Amino acid sequence: VRGYEGRRVAVLGLGRSGLATARALKAGGAEPVLWDDSPEARSKAEVEGFECRDLTKQDGFTGVEVLIVSPGIPHLYPKPNPVIAAAWAAQVPVDNDVGLFFRSLATDEWNRFETLPRVIAVTGSNGKSTTSALIHHCLDHAGRPSQLAGNIGRGVLDIDAPGDGDVVVLELSSYQTDLARSLTPDIAVFTNLTPDHLDRHGGMGGYFAAKRRLFAEGGPDRAIIGVDENEGAYLANQLAEGPGDDRVIRVSVSCKLDGEGWNLFARKGFLSEYRKGRQVASIDLRNLPGLPGVHNHQNALMAYGALRGLGLAPRLIEQGFHSFAGLPHRSQTVAQINGVRFVNDSKATNADSAAMALRAFPNIRWIAGGLGKDGGIASLTGEMDHVVKAYLIGHSAREFALQISDVPHEICETMDIAVRKAAADAEPGDTILLAPAAASFDQYADFEKRGEDFTRLVEELDGQ
Ligand code: ADP
Repeated sequence: VRGYEGRRVAVLGLGRSGLATARALKAGGAEPVLWDDSPEARSKAEVEGFECRDLTKQDGFTGVEVLIVSPGIPHLYPKPNPVIAAAWAAQVPVDNDVGLFFRSLATDEWNRFETLPRVIAVTGSNGKSTTSALIHHCLDHAGRPSQLAGNIGRGVLDIDAPGDGDVVVLELSSYQTDLARSLTPDIAVFTNLTPDHLDRHGGMGGYFAAKRRLFAEGGPDRAIIGVDENEGAYLANQLAEGPGDDRVIRVSVSCKLDGEGWNLFARKGFLSEYRKGRQVASIDLRNLPGLPGVHNHQNALMAYGALRGLGLAPRLIEQGFHSFAGLPHRSQTVAQINGVRFVNDSKATNADSAAMALRAFPNIRWIAGGLGKDGGIASLTGEMDHVVKAYLIGHSAREFALQISDVPHEICETMDIAVRKAAADAEPGDTILLAPAAASFDQYADFEKRGEDFTRLVEELDGQ
């Protein structure tokens, strides 16, 4: 990070991203002072040679230029963190790594190019990772160098200095957009909005406001906006100068978009691009191996919009869609054995995202359960059309069984039993789908470990 040479910068929260920030600051010549409530986290930082200081103490912020906060730490709701409140009281600006990244774009490091590097930022409630990874993949396919960072894989401050005309693709969650003091992507994508993380943002209004910050006044050159929810439709309206303004690309998976503007929509599995009332391109989205289901059609449209905004040709994007393998743990086909497809959607940690997977496949033998969220799977009773039988695991197995009592089901307790039973029952044409509609923490460290366990068990079956 440039711009803070010889200056004191405080860093709050010493998890993976906080430590990466501290290292990047130090490498750029700043003098970081660090804090975390956990003594273990502090001693880890001290072993690396960092200075830790209780910033809530009197004069804790003396000489400090800015406080950089890790994304997991709330600043307003449900209640402000005392260190952040102390920074406000001391009138020290509060920012995060994403803000630092965008500030660094204004320095010489980025301004020496003939063709400026472009930054694409993706936000929304669902589909962020898939959309970001798909954009990155299609750029790669088209021979355009790009880097993928943010809420996915590597931190924004680990991005290498880009070359002429390179692209940086950032996945940004509301936890990152809410605090960043500088957010200036060239192209910004807003996928969709459903209630999530409402505690942290003080309700739906605060959550939408956090995401909207990417599109603030003087915002991106191009905005790709899902207009199937009213928030998106409103945002597109606010940004467009008038009918036909091609700064805004509107996207829908629920209806044909009429109007003079730049419109993308999917109907019956086909993507259509319209500009000024004329059809420009059409792409068949059915049978894309890495993008099954209508929810992934939405992700494909979002990625398509961003890539068109960059000037890529439709044909190149279509080729990229075909070679995209999908992301691990998201509707990922891990094996086909004797005509039975095995799908790992371990990332479906709540009922809403499990619903997407339940719509995407026929003849489903559904492995679900874990640590259920409030309401369990009561909202999924209307989504059982494709389910042949459910195999329920984990802490919420019995609760889930009561909620889908009309559907054939069996309590299996563990993944191991569920996979074996489902495989024994399955017939050619069936899909064995892990889409837990629950968190993993009762039996696994995280959803990745759960998905890996499923995949390993399936591979063992394949070897038999
Ligand atoms: P995010 O990064 O926003 O969490 P992902 O691309 O990682 O999104 O997808 C997470 C899960 O959300 C997927 O496993 C799928 O079940 C569901 N999902 C993905 N894309 C969408 C979408 N466009 N709309 C609704 N749900 C989706």
